Amino acid sequence: MADESAFPKGDLMRGKKGLVMGVANHHSIAYGIASQLAAQGAEMAFTYQGEALERRVRPLAEAIGVKTLIPADVTDDASMDAAFAEIEKSLGTLDFVVHSIAFANKDELKGSFVDNTSRDSFLLAMNISAYSFVDVARRSARLMPNGGSMISMTYLGSERVIPNYNTMGVAKAALEAATRYVARDLGPRGIRVNAISAGAMRTLSLAGISGGRGMIAQGRAFSALKEDTSMEGVAGAALWLLSDLGRSTTGEIVHVDAGFHMIGLPDDLAEG
Ligand code: NAD
Repeated sequence: MADESAFPKGDLMRGKKGLVMGVANHHSIAYGIASQLAAQGAEMAFTYQGEALERRVRPLAEAIGVKTLIPADVTDDASMDAAFAEIEKSLGTLDFVVHSIAFANKDELKGSFVDNTSRDSFLLAMNISAYSFVDVARRSARLMPNGGSMISMTYLGSERVIPNYNTMGVAKAALEAATRYVARDLGPRGIRVNAISAGAMRTLSLAGISGGRGMIAQGRAFSALKEDTSMEGVAGAALWLLSDLGRSTTGEIVHVDAGFHMIGLPDDLAEG
């Protein structure tokens, strides 16, 4: 987690209202992004996965001035209906949405993708990690009469084979394609839709992937900048995309990974 003082203060989001989905604890990427948006004056509502998380999420929300906290399980239509009714009641309209939600069964985030992937687990990962974004986009767009901006979170395992990322990589590929289709549909309504492809970061989700720690070390070693992906960097890209600074950018997958994605050959295998 980044120190809150690390997030630049200002007024880039002053007057804007938005929804942040996916804060589970203080390491969550959603919380880093929300902290940056709060430092720039945004008014926000948080959704969290279920009652069990409320005790952990409430003090985090209050620490950055977020008063509206709503439970929402993206696999449950009744829960989503209730959540969006509550969001409309509390905020009225939305200017931005952060979707920072993913899940796959831990048993399948290791070993052979072809041998370990069951139909049920594949569909569960797709439902929570990809379809939910389409559902959230449709529901949120109805609350964006004046246009807006949405982002989701993805990872390089969608484009390249990253050992153990398996089903989640396929779900992220679907999420990225969905970003482009949704961006095309909502563009005429002045709604921009993008995804941030972040480098590996130490969160609860990463802990569920076999060799997750290794992913961070490799990201650092093979990156152009030779450093970890920072929460400040990810939150800064989110601020750009969600504020008016990003006004001409839509349907884009922005890599924020210290330049890991574009390296073709690690240094120790390169000659000369
Ligand atoms: P995290 O565990 O803090 O966040 C994941 C969130 O998904 C949690 O808040 C969890 O409650 C929520 N969630 C899972 N199932 C849900 C459901 N059915 N309904 C509602 N919410 C549900 O971990 P994170 O790393 O901050 O992950 C956020 C996003 O960033 C994910 O999309 C993840 O794939 C992506 N991402 C993470 C990394 C990384 O290295 N940590 C890198 C790139 C992208």
